Amino acid sequence: MPSLSESTHGAVSQLMPGSVIGIVGGGQLGRMMALSAKYMGFRIGVLDPTPDCPTAQVADFQVTAEYDDRDAIAELARRSDVLTYEFENVDADALDLVADEVAIPQGTDLLRVTQDRIHEKTFINEHGIGTAPWRAVSSYAGLTAALDEIGYPAVLKTDTGGYDGHGQLVLHSADDLTHVDPSDVPPSILEGFVDFAYEASILVSGDGKNYVTFPIVRNIHKNNILHVTIAPAEMSDETAQVATDLALRLADGFKLAGTLAIELFVLRDGSVLVNELAPRPHNSGHYTIEACSIDQFDAHIRGITGWPLPQPKLLSPAIMVNVLGQHVEAARAAIATHPTWNFHDYGKADAKHNRKMGHITVLGADPVALAAEADASGIWDDLK
Ligand code: AMP
Repeated sequence: MPSLSESTHGAVSQLMPGSVIGIVGGGQLGRMMALSAKYMGFRIGVLDPTPDCPTAQVADFQVTAEYDDRDAIAELARRSDVLTYEFENVDADALDLVADEVAIPQGTDLLRVTQDRIHEKTFINEHGIGTAPWRAVSSYAGLTAALDEIGYPAVLKTDTGGYDGHGQLVLHSADDLTHVDPSDVPPSILEGFVDFAYEASILVSGDGKNYVTFPIVRNIHKNNILHVTIAPAEMSDETAQVATDLALRLADGFKLAGTLAIELFVLRDGSVLVNELAPRPHNSGHYTIEACSIDQFDAHIRGITGWPLPQPKLLSPAIMVNVLGQHVEAARAAIATHPTWNFHDYGKADAKHNRKMGHITVLGADPVALAAEADASGIWDDLK
């Protein structure tokens, strides 16, 4: 196995081509990380319980086991020069156990903060950045007391394990408390419901010392799942500057290595709140593959292998549309008639309803017109 290069850049030791990157999690994010890493000459190992998972199809080897299998994590560590992960619900203690054996440039603090909403919101607020008003609750009495302070409407979110709206309950009035079992309120946060103008996100990447941001994009969700990303978001220079500054502040707070995604609420007065963080490349950043001078996956790999990061530039406005299980057939049929649509397929075996199977990115001067064209195709009619 190639050893760490003598030269270092920033805080992360620089790895040379031929080194092995171990990825915990073998879904589409791991797959696209691996594709970036492969063209740079790295080798890829992946830990995932599903044989022939999306990442394994483009990797050099797979350790086929559950994500929390400590022996399997130790095996991946032994066979890798650097470890990364494609989702945040990774056993941070298990990674700490192998930290002597393999580089983990992202560290595990980033994981611990982002896998727990209380830690995450506290970290964001401590860095002088606004969120929806929130309270930690773990009992029914605590919930009603928090509702007295925050008021309706509010959103109750489980502290850990939530994604794409899972583990969330919107409380419009006291009537909705009938959906809460008074004897079973798991550790959660209660958040004020934000009357946002739109949702946006910004990616920031780092090598542990230097940080670069990507353009701010607008995100449209349907049924709590990202549907369309429009790049760039149309916003004032002041709002863009605020979002960029907060991204750089968070990156510095984490001494970020790799890519971090920051989901934002943009309010009608142009102010910005942070909704949540993802310590990895993100669905809303897939457009960067075609539309930017360096994409979020390249930036992630450069960041964790100690390669310097250039400032990403938007080469063209773009839209990205997700292809879910129910869209796959029609999307594949559209390949023949849409030469300007960049089709990405994640190689998943089962096209289950609402499962992310692929995405389509389209470049063009007028992203609103591109979104209308996608809409007119009929592929996504179930989301109307
Ligand atoms: P999350 O899992 O926290 O990203 O929430 C999923 C989606 O629910 C977000 O993308 C928003 O559309 C919506 N949402 C979450 N929290 C709030 C909030 N406090 N106010 C308004 N909408 C929210």
